[in-house]
Amino acid sequence: MRCLNCLTVCNAADSTCPGCNKPLVLGRRSRSSGFRVSKYALICMVVGEAFFNTYGRRWFPSTGNDINMEFVMWAGVVGAGCAVVGAFLDMMLGGPSGAK
Ligand SMILES: [Zn+2]
Repeated sequence: MRCLNCLTVCNAADSTCPGCNKPLVLGRRSRSSGFRVSKYALICMVVGEAFFNTYGRRWFPSTGNDINMEFVMWAGVVGAGCAVVGAFLDMMLGGPSGAK
């Protein structure tokens, strides 16, 4: 592994970098915080889709076994919109991108 600060090759057992003496930051940490953003977006998207699937059908009455393309399209729009709201919500709550 390499130090993210000075790119010195470090021993995985080291807790600090031998080159610059900074604590070694594992790549796993930044990846998990990035996942947190997408998790918020994902949750909002799922909730939005579930809500739309429950209440949206009354606006798009099913015609037999045919898939209502308009309903599918709007479900996608609602899902994408909720994902954006979820990502925005994470930023407002002090997500990793908003920190510092
Ligand atoms: Zn270093």
